[in-house]
Amino acid sequence: RAAVVLLTRDLRVRDNPALAAACANAEQVVPLYVLDPKLGRLSPNRTRFLRQALADLRATLRDKGGDLVIRTGDPVAEAVEVARAAGAEGIGMAADVSRYARTREQRLREECERHRMSLKLFPGLTVVDPGALRPGGGGSAYKVFSPYHRTWRAATWRDEVATPDRITLPDGITAGHLPDPPPGESPDAAVGGETEARRKFATWMRHIGPYPELHNDMAADGTSRLSPYLRFGCLSPLELANAAIKQGAEEYARQLCWRDFYYQIALMMPDLSTQPIRPSGDTSWRSDTDALQHWRDGLTGVPVVDAGMRQMRAEGWMHNRARLITAAFLTKHLGVDWRPGVQWFFRWLLDGDVPNNSGNWQWVAGTGNDTRPYRKFNPIRQAQRFDPDGVYVRRYIPELKGIEGGAVHQPWRLPDTVRRGLDYPGPLESHRDEAVWLRP
Ligand code: FAD
Repeated sequence: RAAVVLLTRDLRVRDNPALAAACANAEQVVPLYVLDPKLGRLSPNRTRFLRQALADLRATLRDKGGDLVIRTGDPVAEAVEVARAAGAEGIGMAADVSRYARTREQRLREECERHRMSLKLFPGLTVVDPGALRPGGGGSAYKVFSPYHRTWRAATWRDEVATPDRITLPDGITAGHLPDPPPGESPDAAVGGETEARRKFATWMRHIGPYPELHNDMAADGTSRLSPYLRFGCLSPLELANAAIKQGAEEYARQLCWRDFYYQIALMMPDLSTQPIRPSGDTSWRSDTDALQHWRDGLTGVPVVDAGMRQMRAEGWMHNRARLITAAFLTKHLGVDWRPGVQWFFRWLLDGDVPNNSGNWQWVAGTGNDTRPYRKFNPIRQAQRFDPDGVYVRRYIPELKGIEGGAVHQPWRLPDTVRRGLDYPGPLESHRDEAVWLRP
């Protein structure tokens, strides 16, 4: 008996329910990944990370006697063809929430039925299944975080599953070519794969203690940086949440709950990247291509904003506090639509995914689930609070390296002689009149 596991965003052997079930129930297993030409064009950074993760998974599976079978094309057609060639009774895969993933799942179900094969869906992309927790036990998704968190924390989570020891491929199934990782766009991007994820996870578990005090400190870099590994499933979110809770790191587990929270919203609202969560949420946004471009380039003249935008380009990752500040700057200060912001982040972020990127953008823009949608972040106060000595800003803006301490946050307040010597722009014209904190 043979089974096919179509891997998508669960690129790991540890706590992988779809893979574990196939290995428990079938003698021969085909772990399959289909390179879908429709994906990957959007983000060179994520394409590189994904290929690295696939190469790593292939090496792990080979060590276990099996392989990662690679095909290129339409995942539905390829999965069915491989399943037929392997004489498999069915295909298993992790359930996902995006519109693209659900359409793929539906098409695969129909094709499996046509060929008298089963399609089994498994958990694994989140701690708790999106859709498992409903407000009042029925209806749609939770739109406010706190009640979701209470229910999430009180819920019984599934057990972690065993890691398969040995995997045997059916005869006649060729492994297929895995192209080398293409170049990404960010020189300092993290390396993809379960091996690297486990190394970072182990290190993080030794440093998780001061998370509540450090996670907003932009210079300290006191967060786990595990988000890209969760994005591609190189690490099980359930394993991570269990390990955090075992160490009493409730604040950290709460952040993982935010991730689950946006997945259950995305399940209810597949158009999260284009439609406001609150139907009345959108205000009239300004169209200002010049301001938008300066924001993208990290040249707004507001150092903490520019530092965040440049960190994202350099590393394919941005500190959460900087994401809040830069997103609020675009929407609440420049008054520009959140959707181009979503797209720009989506191009660069290794962890970029629809639920978390769009969900968080909507929270900041006030179109989403924020209970205080009119909140307006003052970037200077944010900078003074979360980067008081300017260390984070100087790290990413070499033009300001010579300005000591917190003065770096307001270059417009420096003496004329110093300011004129800086190769750094003044604040944007469109922004200058509006912002009281820009006044000298
Ligand atoms: P840690 O602080 O170590 O947190 C642990 C994990 O909890 C993270 O890896 C992440 O999976 C989860 N988490 C933490 N904060 C959030 C949050 N606010 N929402 C959802 N999950 C969270 N996160 C993404 O994974 N993908 C995105 O595309 C994304 N886009 C964002 C866009 C904006 C405008 C904002 C404000 C936030 C966005 N986030 C996104 C959430 C958050 O910034 C990142 O998850 C976090 O910075 C990742 O770094 P870390 O792994 O060190 O986080």
